[in-house]
Amino acid sequence: MTGLLEPTESEHGNLVGRDPRKITTGEWLASDLPLDVGLRAIRAKCLDCALTAREARLCVVTACPLWPLRMGTKPKGFREARAQRDATRERQPQPPALRKVKLARKREPE
Ligand code: SF4
Repeated sequence: MTGLLEPTESEHGNLVGRDPRKITTGEWLASDLPLDVGLRAIRAKCLDCALTAREARLCVVTACPLWPLRMGTKPKGFREARAQRDATRERQPQPPALRKVKLARKREPE
């Protein structure tokens, strides 16, 4: 895993993580990371945080952005609720500062 850290660069004298967008396929393969994405990564994070599957199921931290997806699946109605909320927000007039932030985010490279 140390290959994914940047020993030559440091911030205030501390070791820092490398920019994942610049890590090659070979480096990922050589790492000991599970390479999970999406719901699997969320589930893994919740199991790490809560320690057991039961505690993840019982988690009360509803303010955590992972909470709805902590079981590793999309709950029934979740996608529809998101779509409806997004549609409602799109129709709302936005302050110019927020529009600028959204435009800047769209322009950021993946
Ligand atoms: S939803 Fe709960 S278990 Fe999952 S990361 Fe957040 S606080 Fe931890």
